[in-house]
Amino acid sequence: MRLAVTDKCNLRCFYCMPEDGLDWLSRTELMSYEEMQRACDLLVNMGIDKIRITGGEPFVRKDIMQLLTGISQINGLKELSITTNGVLTAPHVAEMKAMGIRSVNLSLDTLDAGRFFAITRRDEFAAVMNTLDELLKHDFEVKINSVVMDGKNTQDILPMVALTKDLPVSVRFIEEMPFNGDGHAYKGLQWDYLRILNEIETHYPTIQKLDDDLYSTSYNYQIQGHKGSVGIIAAYSRTFCGSCNRIRITPQGTLKNCLYDDGILNIKDLMRSGITDAELRKNLLNAFSHRAADGWEAERLRHEQTNVHESMATIGG
Ligand code: SAM
Ligand code: SF4
Repeated sequence: MRLAVTDKCNLRCFYCMPEDGLDWLSRTELMSYEEMQRACDLLVNMGIDKIRITGGEPFVRKDIMQLLTGISQINGLKELSITTNGVLTAPHVAEMKAMGIRSVNLSLDTLDAGRFFAITRRDEFAAVMNTLDELLKHDFEVKINSVVMDGKNTQDILPMVALTKDLPVSVRFIEEMPFNGDGHAYKGLQWDYLRILNEIETHYPTIQKLDDDLYSTSYNYQIQGHKGSVGIIAAYSRTFCGSCNRIRITPQGTLKNCLYDDGILNIKDLMRSGITDAELRKNLLNAFSHRAADGWEAERLRHEQTNVHESMATIGG
């Protein structure tokens, strides 16, 4: 389960939101930490054993360590992980490790400070690299998420792969999706997973396919002699839907069975109406049983017949 704890962010990645940000959710529209904890307790009790905290930027929400501590202590939870842009993360790394978090996804689309600024519209490259150092120093399993954007960072594909030579990280290239909050017109996918793979294979003929985990959404590879690995996530092509078992909860409490659906039910509203855990459980099970066959069907079945255009910061990625 992926829980987005806020829609707010300290970067303005152009593929995720417009330069002047979003119409941020008000405090009352956001789920409170108590509501998030209750949802996590119940879902773990129902069998969810992995929770990923995302956003917006999780470390922008006040007292986030308090929520992480609470969730990390849920009996039966096997894995708590975080997706972060790394701007404010470094000072929290040791405490995250101490509470049992082992894996962090760090978003980093380029190794060039100038291109970082052009993509994120903020001058925070050094802070993100510092977080990467801290995570590695504390032996975290680090996955670097890198969105591949035509005309913006395709020259970074090979340097990002080269990073896996000496660093034990998994660099995962993600197809760009249309979830940009109408920050710009989505021109259609220019770099699909096959084109990304071809670019890598041409320069690294020793690349080998690894066995993917059962519910993996990435195709994983390793280059001979490299400490780390490379993954490609066909997030737009949606070739992995058959093995995806994710559910998502947005900052306003909307349950999503798929990135591409526009919400199945709002658990915050149900909790505020005084629903019991037993009733909430029934509602959740009913929602899970109406999962679309794949992301294409989920998109077709959206209640509002609009193309996907919302910001990824309101979904969590
Ligand atoms: N702020 C955090 C971060 O950037 O890591 C967490 C939230 S962010 C929405 C989660 C992931 O979604 C990031 O790895 C980001 O690169 C990815 N993402 C955002 N917009 C995207 C888009 N339009 N297409 C593909 N991936 C996107
Ligand atoms: Fe913020 Fe993450 Fe969206 Fe970038 S991708 S604007 S860091 S929420």
